[in-house]
Amino acid sequence: TVDPSTTSILIVGCGTWGSSTALHLVRRGYKNVTVLDPYEVPSAISAGNDVNKIVEQGHRGEDASVSNRVVLEATKAWETDPIFKPYYHATGVVVAATKPENVQELYESEHATPENGYEPLKTAEDFRRTMPEGVLTGEFPGWKGWAKKDGCGWVHARKALVSAAMEAQRLGVKLVTGSPHGQVGSLIYEDGDVKGAITADGKHHRAERTILCAGANAPQLLDMKNQLRPTAWTLAHIKMTEEEAKLYKDLPVLFNVERGFFMEPDADNHELKICDEHPGYCYELPQSGDDSTYVSRPIAKHQIPLVSEQGVRDFLRETMPHLAERPFSHARVCWCADTPDRGYLITSHPEHASLTLGVGGSGHGFKVIPTVGGYIVDCMEGKLDESMKHTWRWRPETAVRRDWTAVQGRMGGSYKVLDFGDVKEDEWTTIKPRL
Ligand code: FAD
Repeated sequence: TVDPSTTSILIVGCGTWGSSTALHLVRRGYKNVTVLDPYEVPSAISAGNDVNKIVEQGHRGEDASVSNRVVLEATKAWETDPIFKPYYHATGVVVAATKPENVQELYESEHATPENGYEPLKTAEDFRRTMPEGVLTGEFPGWKGWAKKDGCGWVHARKALVSAAMEAQRLGVKLVTGSPHGQVGSLIYEDGDVKGAITADGKHHRAERTILCAGANAPQLLDMKNQLRPTAWTLAHIKMTEEEAKLYKDLPVLFNVERGFFMEPDADNHELKICDEHPGYCYELPQSGDDSTYVSRPIAKHQIPLVSEQGVRDFLRETMPHLAERPFSHARVCWCADTPDRGYLITSHPEHASLTLGVGGSGHGFKVIPTVGGYIVDCMEGKLDESMKHTWRWRPETAVRRDWTAVQGRMGGSYKVLDFGDVKEDEWTTIKPRL
């Protein structure tokens, strides 16, 4: 059992889920919480260190699935929790695809009916009309989709992450950030259990409970039995003028599941972020698809492969050709970690009783930053809702002979998982790094 006033708790990783967990712990009265991270908040390698992320809406009514409940609870928190509310922009969304089978799949996954507030978009003009004149100037070749005006939108990810971590700190959480003192080299394994972590400066941070929230880096610290595949996506920014930034303000999110997505330019730098859609990159994939010893290593990089630059520009040519040739002002690869079924992995470790895992964002882990820490703490306290406990359980049986190249339902690009190891030095962008 845990006692908020005495139990010592160590969180490994102060990214999206780690900062949320720290916040939920102090809000529940925990007095002895420490978080370790090799980077100052916001960590340069956190998947959440980004200007924006999409927050989709849940389906009200009869959909009682865990994933739907989680989205509804997160949306409520974005709307009401003062720590997160300022960063939520309920702008609505335009979703689209081009291949008929993908259009159909999108229709089903979004429940894109008029009763749910979805307006069908069939022609280029329909798409252009979803935004002010001068924004969408493209021909939208073959696009079909839907517009939805409320509920969903986007969040300023970096600011929400910093807000959570700073509030946790204000309420008493101890943040140990920076390298080497925040960089965990290994967990402390003792008597079959985990008793904290050892940082790169040699310090032993002993704790009665340890919570692993190291995102794509978790498999470096714990044998995940192939349940986590660190996978990277690519993002690029282009600089907008002040007038353009004004015109682009309050736009709905535009997301084509085969091409990519964008949200409005960020208010501070007037930069428009674009992600090209593809099944992701791993690093040095094994020769044999199901090599069980393989761990994709998250390499940090502020450049993207030229193939991705091409993907971004192709997307712009179809939607906003007036921006298609503009140079990138910033780009980076962004690592998340996929479970085989792309469900979260929030569970007690089956062998190490004092270790709780909060990993497996699987490309949709940011939208839950206001609430996910609550589930992780519930799990540590042994009172996680039964259906969540089952859905997010330790499930190595789903990763036996895991095919590391599986696209797992993702679309776009070459419809294949790519390998950064295959990208030659001159096949990367050469964007001037920021000072
Ligand atoms: P992170 O936020 O990456 O945190 C991991 C932390 O662990 C980092 O702070 C890191 O510094 C720290 N760490 C690493 N190694 C160590 C160590 N040795 N010791 C201590 N600490 C360590 N989700 C959405 O909901 N909507 C979206 O629109 C969306 N878009 C995305 C777009 C891209 C390009 C990517 C890559 C992801 C996107 N996601 C989105 C997914 C979402 O960003 C992630 O699921 C979520 O941020 C993962 O949170 P995390 O805490 O697990 O990992």
